[in-house]
Amino acid sequence: MPTPDALVGPLLAWYAQVARDLPWRRTSDPYAIWISEIMLQQTQVKTVMSYWHRWMCRFPTVRALAKANFQDVLKSWEGLGYYARARNLHRAARIMVRKHSGALPRGYRELIALPGIGRYTAGAICSIAFNQPEPILDGNVIRVLTRIFAIDRNPRETQTNQLLWELARRLVERAPRVPHPPPRPCSDLNQALMELGATVCAPRQPNCPICPVRRECTAYRTGRTAELPRPSSRPQTLSRRVLAFVISRNGRFLLKKRPARSINAHLWEFPNLEAGDTNFDLETMAKRCVGFRPRALRPLCSLNHTITHFRIHVDVFLGAMNKPLPRTSVSVRWCTLGQVDELPLPNAHRRIAERLGALLKNAGATNVNRVGRSLVEREL
Ligand code: SF4
Repeated sequence: MPTPDALVGPLLAWYAQVARDLPWRRTSDPYAIWISEIMLQQTQVKTVMSYWHRWMCRFPTVRALAKANFQDVLKSWEGLGYYARARNLHRAARIMVRKHSGALPRGYRELIALPGIGRYTAGAICSIAFNQPEPILDGNVIRVLTRIFAIDRNPRETQTNQLLWELARRLVERAPRVPHPPPRPCSDLNQALMELGATVCAPRQPNCPICPVRRECTAYRTGRTAELPRPSSRPQTLSRRVLAFVISRNGRFLLKKRPARSINAHLWEFPNLEAGDTNFDLETMAKRCVGFRPRALRPLCSLNHTITHFRIHVDVFLGAMNKPLPRTSVSVRWCTLGQVDELPLPNAHRRIAERLGALLKNAGATNVNRVGRSLVEREL
């Protein structure tokens, strides 16, 4: 079995030479590193770059984030998905102000007690920001370790997962003790493991000839890189059909806020409901969805999107409302398109708003944000 000594030195030397120049690697600010780690969960580096820069301008410190309006926080997260991450960042920042003098705590136990910070994130902050010998284990590190040590079991299974954490711990604990360690050996070692998985030890066709640990890697030496890691069973993808209604009245459009504790909680969206597989009466469904029978329904567009293991097809309909505008409330608003732009919307509903904006522009509106009498209604 490869020893930590044989792996850690080559990994640190390799990382010193080839580490990508990522903006959050140029700072030692724990807050900036925390934000990058949360954004990078479920999201690719190239997408995170622009979001991270914007976020750091808008909320440069824990205190700035804690003070921010939650809707502004959600708006800054719009497009990244998995909005619970933004909610937890905001909650955790407020706790840090109350309990930790407005800074990230340095201790693993204090970190993992915060909302949205699990074992991986606590380890990443401890090691990357504070250079502590805490292990990390994400998808990239799992792939690297299962190949180096030829672990031929489902890495998500409890015992195997514990073994992987233990191997990651042995490596990071060894980092400060190699000859001539870099100034921040624990930080570099953990980032080297992630970097290797992200850039060399790819899920398919790893680039083993350039790998710094190929001589130690059991999978490479035994020709088993394609077999490892063992794929874990994924939940089956399920199809869903949803109807969405863009209801206009006096140049404004009806939007509703999603309830707390739902997917995309607290984001705004055009009213919508599950259509199921069976035939349905569109007007009845519209009434059930918006609470009144809209006038002259007609199709606006269709779109597909995916949330977790659901593949969702959305049919969007335009309609108008005859009656006076009902009062707005905390969860219902009638908005101009300009106001829709300022609200945090899930991706699918942002796309609907863009289609609506394009329709209004094509119809000749000079200022779609001030559509006095909605072109949609005029058309209807
Ligand atoms: Fe991955 Fe190949 Fe390196 Fe082994 S030798 S760690 S399989 S890239």
